Amino acid sequence: MSEATRTNLLNLSIDELKDFFVAMGEKPFRAQQVLKWIYQWGVTDFDEMTNIKKDVRAKLKEIAEVKAPTIISEQNSADGTTKWALDVGDGQVVESVLIPDEGRNTLCISTQVGCPIKCSFCRTGTQGFNRNLTISEIVGQVFVACKKVGFRQSSDEKAISNVVMMGMGEPLLNIKNVIAATEILLNDNAFGLSKRRVTISTSGVAPVLNQIAGKVDVALALSLHAPNDKLRDELVPLNKRHNIKTVLDAVKNYVEKSNANCGRVTIEYVLLDHVNDSTDDAEELARLLKRVPCKINLIPFNPHEGSGYARPSNSRIDRFCKVLMAHGYTVITRTTRGDDIAAACGQLAGQVKDKLKIKAAMVEA
Ligand code: SAH
Ligand code: SF4
Repeated sequence: MSEATRTNLLNLSIDELKDFFVAMGEKPFRAQQVLKWIYQWGVTDFDEMTNIKKDVRAKLKEIAEVKAPTIISEQNSADGTTKWALDVGDGQVVESVLIPDEGRNTLCISTQVGCPIKCSFCRTGTQGFNRNLTISEIVGQVFVACKKVGFRQSSDEKAISNVVMMGMGEPLLNIKNVIAATEILLNDNAFGLSKRRVTISTSGVAPVLNQIAGKVDVALALSLHAPNDKLRDELVPLNKRHNIKTVLDAVKNYVEKSNANCGRVTIEYVLLDHVNDSTDDAEELARLLKRVPCKINLIPFNPHEGSGYARPSNSRIDRFCKVLMAHGYTVITRTTRGDDIAAACGQLAGQVKDKLKIKAAMVEA
């Protein structure tokens, strides 16, 4: 069988992998064995999968492969952050970022090539949108990172402990592949991550959030960025379709049905100088979030050329934070990591050839 027609096992959901073995005339438990070899040991050569019968291995070599995207560049930041650019074909490139931090290794992964939401302050959004990433391209980012830092079985202390979908793209607009990838991240035979350590960050695709509530249980972060619809319409254009009330209702519903969030959603709020960072904005935000159990993550804007926005001064950030704390909120001001290599939140650009119109991408939403 030619390479082009071989099935890439990284591209199969867990159920599809079971079906694949059943179609070969094998028992579904073969899927568990292969999952372990691939995702816990990083083995891609079927000959090394020694608990699988020789004839099955020979057949696998003929019809299947384990193929992750290739790393085309690696940049290391002075603060220990690493950014990888991955080739996803057709000249398209996506980025993922490894952020080591006291006993944790967090990998920030992309879910789309570019992003159709086009938030006004986000570099990914300004690159346009080409397509959704496949399952193998999403889990492949974790796989290639593990190839660098170690897999669970071979190097437990260094392995990836947390995965956040905060790279390029809007995860909820690629929900089918994001769900399949999430199952692989959580499955004990695969990456085996705790559901509290896998985070989906969304700009607020309310209908999809309602659809997955109670079915997909991971940590949720909502990118809110504004205390009212007028300002949010400007910053996050999706707000014109699903306004703040609709989105917060969907978030509440999701969190109520989840064990991974301990009852609270993370609200992300990018602080943009003199745009959404006044004490009045903070007061309005505090009122807005009264009915939503949450903690608030303030992200000082990470500048990129031509954005037209600036990072607020430390005193403005501090004042904003104090207003929220005075109202009793748990607030974390996120320290910028990897900005010297453009790896900080919203700085990922990759290489996107704009292909599809926004409407096509949002058809489901
Ligand atoms: N599309 C999803 C996930 C990817 S963006 C979402 O929007 O949630 C991850 C986070 O980075 C979001 O909270 C986003 O608003 C934030 N972000 C985007 N551009 C930024 C910038 N230039 N500076 C700081 N944070 C930014
Ligand atoms: Fe897309 Fe998120 Fe960037 Fe908005 S902030 S354009 S939703 S990646």
